[in-house]
Amino acid sequence: MNGKRGFYIGRFQPYHNGHQSVLEHIANKVDEIIIGIGSAQLSHSVENPFTAGERVMMITRALESLGCRYYVIPIEDVQRNALWVAHVRSMAPPFDTCYSSNPLVVRLFSEARVNVQSPAMSERDTLSGTEIRRRMLAGESWEELVPPAVVQVLNEIDGVGRLRQIARTD
Ligand code: ATP
Ligand code: MG
Repeated sequence: MNGKRGFYIGRFQPYHNGHQSVLEHIANKVDEIIIGIGSAQLSHSVENPFTAGERVMMITRALESLGCRYYVIPIEDVQRNALWVAHVRSMAPPFDTCYSSNPLVVRLFSEARVNVQSPAMSERDTLSGTEIRRRMLAGESWEELVPPAVVQVLNEIDGVGRLRQIARTD
């Protein structure tokens, strides 16, 4: 083991099978994975319904059988993109490579001279947080788009009930 660590960041609102397949791929490339939970301070909104702690539960339980050590680190927003990579580094264990397909994330890490790999998207039409939140609000089925452990966490916290309630107007 040479101690190679990879970094992967998302908002995970919620954590879904697209994220899971990327992490299974990264697990074959590195010795340890750092999973950053972005916009960690946000919760209880239609775009960002779940707290950082709830997202930690989803990820930790879904990855129980990954077979690669991982660290889950909540990372709050800083309102200055030019400082964001330094902010991430100040919170995360040291890493060699960032795995991301998000254009802004790729750009910021590249400018900071961090090695960036962009994993392929899987079934992006359905495996998307936006689509899953839409389905939850519409009363359509979403359970098959997330790992079983995430269904369990969302049931425990009444995730769909929360999303529907905060989406209403008074
Ligand atoms: P939202 O629609 O809320 O933005 P999202 O599905 O894009 O949700 P994020 O948490 O924003 O999820 O994404 C985290 C990372 O996962 C990003 O780098 C994103 O490109 C990647 N990702 C999202 N969906 C997929 C997918 N289906 N396959 C592979 N990577 C994905
Ligand atoms: Mg996204």
